[in-house]
Amino acid sequence: MTPTNKEKSADRADREFIVGIEPPADRTEKAFWFIFRGREVLLNIHENPGVIPKLHDPGELELSGIREQYLGTLDGTHCYSVEIPEGAKAPEGIQFADLRQAYSEISEGCFALVNKAVQVMEWDRTNQFCSRCGTKTRKRHGERGKECPDCGELFYPRISPAIIVLIRKGHEVLLARSPNFPPGLYSLIAGFIEPGETAEAAVAREVKEEVGIRIKNISYFGTQAWPFPNSLMIGFTAEYSSGDIQPDGVEIEDAKWFSADEMLPVLPGKISISRKLIDHFLKEEGLES
Ligand SMILES: [Zn+2]
Repeated sequence: MTPTNKEKSADRADREFIVGIEPPADRTEKAFWFIFRGREVLLNIHENPGVIPKLHDPGELELSGIREQYLGTLDGTHCYSVEIPEGAKAPEGIQFADLRQAYSEISEGCFALVNKAVQVMEWDRTNQFCSRCGTKTRKRHGERGKECPDCGELFYPRISPAIIVLIRKGHEVLLARSPNFPPGLYSLIAGFIEPGETAEAAVAREVKEEVGIRIKNISYFGTQAWPFPNSLMIGFTAEYSSGDIQPDGVEIEDAKWFSADEMLPVLPGKISISRKLIDHFLKEEGLES
């Protein structure tokens, strides 16, 4: 059975997204529009058909874009990202949500698309000119890329790989907090991979730098694309090897061993890979978070 338009929400995890580069020739059908004001996304959280506005054009909401990018199709519905001016007002009944707020309010499937849309939008915005010679760039046909017509430099969306690791010591897990976290929140050790470094070496280095301990048995867990600002988080588990916890006082202000059956601190949101790792640990310990 073909879903009706009312059922065609972007807010379902089982949708099939197909990346597309070249937009359709016309806009006779409504599309999902990921509309950004800075790093805020326009969400229609109170009405069907879902949280991402479905429109022929942002003009329907009396909004005009500075530039737009075609993203592909979601179950056959075209998707675009568009940047609008900083001072633009949200239409009645719809609101702009900061990405971190959106991440706690919308489904994982929808957040994945917002993540993709914001990164494409920011890549487009920040690569209007060649960073080597200053000439205006142009789109490369058939791929998500730009090129400099003068010197030939190529510009693709930048993805920054970062590691995150759950460290276990017997029945305890190491949780740590950054001074930037909301009050009471603890999470896992994380950090960006240095040029020329393997992900496993980055795990061992970050742990040693931030909390002063050595670890062993580093194992791959999974990955998550993360738009703060353009990371690919690569998750690992590891076991404590040696040393005493010594927070570096800069990235980490406090770190402790917690057992699964004691009162845990405030944990990261459910769709983050840090929480998935912590939930995995709790499940292994026979508990649900
Ligand atoms: Zn150039």
